[in-house]
Amino acid sequence: MNEKAMFQLTYGLYVLTAVKDGKQSGCIINTAGQVTNSPNRIQIAVNKANYTHDMIMETGKFTVSMINQKANFDLFKRFGFQSGKDVDKFEGFDGFALGENGINYITEGCNGYISAKVEQTLDLGTHTLFIALVTDMDVLNDVPSTTYSYYQENIKPKPQANQNKSDKTTWVCKVCGYVYEGEELPADYICPLCKHPASDFEKQ
Ligand code: FE
Repeated sequence: MNEKAMFQLTYGLYVLTAVKDGKQSGCIINTAGQVTNSPNRIQIAVNKANYTHDMIMETGKFTVSMINQKANFDLFKRFGFQSGKDVDKFEGFDGFALGENGINYITEGCNGYISAKVEQTLDLGTHTLFIALVTDMDVLNDVPSTTYSYYQENIKPKPQANQNKSDKTTWVCKVCGYVYEGEELPADYICPLCKHPASDFEKQ
């Protein structure tokens, strides 16, 4: 079995937002899609480690903002590489607006949003699958949606080229582009920028 076949699936990228007790938060997901159209329903799968996951479990509602090709890397750092448990992800940010469900949707680097109300959940171990009825949605601009491949090739910073011509081995985080210098990457290494594990690093 060739597990790389999973990479042949196409993925979009989305900012998933929720609100609980007046606190707005969000995270980045690549698992959202329409499942029915009469009425409109969408599905999202969310890692249980995400603070946004618990907010949705408790409140039963969320908004998905579709990231477009003009999004900059800062949007990914803000919503993807830190935890809503520790920080207010909206602090110092004005690229959003308040949706009619009381949840912020993202206007910066996104081309539309869909708000939904959870109808069913399925426990998938590491993730919860939420099936939800669309309650509101709008198109914000016509910049094409980004795919995960587009993010990899055009939005994520390129690894710094080795300035000195030494033969130093480097390992590059496939998720955020962080460069680790060293012959061997420790097996328990965690990317300091995006917190992904050693398995997401590629030897250069
Ligand atoms: Fe990283």
